Amino acid sequence: MSFSVDTRISDLDAMEAEGVDLLVVGGGITGAGIARDAAMRGLSVGLVERGDFASGTSSRSSKLIHGGLRYLEQGEINLVLEANRERKCLTEIAPHLAMHARLAFPVHGRTSAGLMKLRAGLWAFEKMAKIPAEELHEVWDRDESVARIPGLLKDRLQGSAVYTEYITDDARLTLETLKSAKRYGARVVNRAPATALREQESALTVSGDGQSRRAGLVVGLRDDLSGRSLDVNAAVVVNAAGPWVDSVRRLGGAANDRMQLTKGIHLVVERERLPVDDIVVMRAQDKRILFVVPFEDICWIGTTDTFYPEAVERPEITREDVDYLLEATNRNWPDQPIDPSEVRGAWAGVRPLLRQEGKNPSEISRKDEVLIEPNGLLSIAGGKLTTYRQMAERVVDAVVERLGGAGTPCRTGEVPLVEGEEPISMVRTRLSDEEIRFAIEEESASSVTDVLERRARANFFAADNGLGAVESVASTLAGRMGWTDEETDQEIRLYQARIREDLAWRQE
Ligand SMILES: Cc1cc2nc3c(=O)[nH]c(=O)nc-3n(C[C@H](O)[C@H](O)[C@H](O)COP(=O)(O)OP(=O)(O)OC[C@H]3O[C@@H](n4cnc5c(N)ncnc54)[C@H](O)[C@@H]3O)c2cc1C
Repeated sequence: MSFSVDTRISDLDAMEAEGVDLLVVGGGITGAGIARDAAMRGLSVGLVERGDFASGTSSRSSKLIHGGLRYLEQGEINLVLEANRERKCLTEIAPHLAMHARLAFPVHGRTSAGLMKLRAGLWAFEKMAKIPAEELHEVWDRDESVARIPGLLKDRLQGSAVYTEYITDDARLTLETLKSAKRYGARVVNRAPATALREQESALTVSGDGQSRRAGLVVGLRDDLSGRSLDVNAAVVVNAAGPWVDSVRRLGGAANDRMQLTKGIHLVVERERLPVDDIVVMRAQDKRILFVVPFEDICWIGTTDTFYPEAVERPEITREDVDYLLEATNRNWPDQPIDPSEVRGAWAGVRPLLRQEGKNPSEISRKDEVLIEPNGLLSIAGGKLTTYRQMAERVVDAVVERLGGAGTPCRTGEVPLVEGEEPISMVRTRLSDEEIRFAIEEESASSVTDVLERRARANFFAADNGLGAVESVASTLAGRMGWTDEETDQEIRLYQARIREDLAWRQE
């Protein structure tokens, strides 16, 4: 399937000429899930993304498909049930993007009370979430914990509760979902920010929230590759802009902010420095739960949760953030403390959460909500990567209702994400020449960063952060994009600067 700079132009032309039933603003996992679902139900769908697909939060998560144990602690039973249903669903529709992993939760304390409490919580969780027998938790006593988690702090170690989690590749999940949407006829375009939003005259009358009003919006777009501006008529517009939900709402005149952003960072170290076989939980100094996630030759350590004032693609990583994670890691693996200079990659993202006054970042609910503006704009706010499919189903149900019941029932829970093609394995760090061309022609990559940061995950995970591949990726792209030598050099410098910036906290 062609999905490239050429299909961008034909998709923009078609959207401008014909309009769409549904225009989705935002090409992260939420928008991707909505576009796939709506296209599979037979709606005419457009999706526009400001930067590259998954360039926002959806390439910067902890990459865990959570069962939702944490939500049980917070009394959010519905979230627990939904997370588990969705986790099972993902293992069925995209088994290559849901890697089974064991999660060990070691408990340190003077008595075994903490371990007993955790076991009771897990027992209740497993009953409620109907966890299958083969995934029920087990308990490692002290000796087994010491043997199975090399280097772990032994002092006051009581044992570990061990249960199932899944690891995914967030950017790959988003890309595959968008490619599926495209296969079902959606028009999917990156580097095309929505810049304006106004009501249009239309015969269609909606009463989705009980009020009748004119339906249909005109969305102004800018094609950032050509500089052209265009308008697209859409019967319904869904704002799936993640951390930017409020800024897209403001395009349509909304004055009140509903989002509250929190930042989370991750650090990547060599697996040999933290030779764990399973995901291991540890407590930060402030008692927050942190993870070490092993994957091939690396581990990532995450994450922080601090308020962040604005939506940006790459929030700043500070030395304080790094020290917070390394303090906990080095306290729990005290024998050979990790020095900041050993961190080989780092990333930060912002969580698009719904504002809840008076709560600290970790207490804010992760549940999602559909916001409806007086002009008819639907915004989907909050949520998790884990529950994207269910969120999308709810949103598309609302869209279908607005369109007077058009479309067939949701099938995203049954139809494999990748149909008729060899699935691409997750977290690839190196691409062959053929794979680079595939990223450009069939996955709409148009910059060095698109290729090395999201089609491969070289910047975060490769030993050289992808720097060794920059020139060959740039030269393949230059031929295709018609770049001058100067433009090609600029692309190379841009990627190199990003890597320096991600690790700039080392100088603080
Ligand atoms: C540190 C961290 C760890 C996390 N870990 C997990 C985890 O382990 N498991 C889990 O389930 N969830 C996790 N999450 C949550 C999860 O990552 C997010 O809920 C999810 O990725 C949000 O996706 P989204 O599509 O809503 O937002 P985004 O991915 O940010 O997508 C929104 C898109 O909208 C685009 N956009 C903005 N403005 C415009 C415009 N005007 N026109 C066009 N496009 C626009 C942006 O460029 C962006 O690409 C984590 C989040 C963070 C920050």
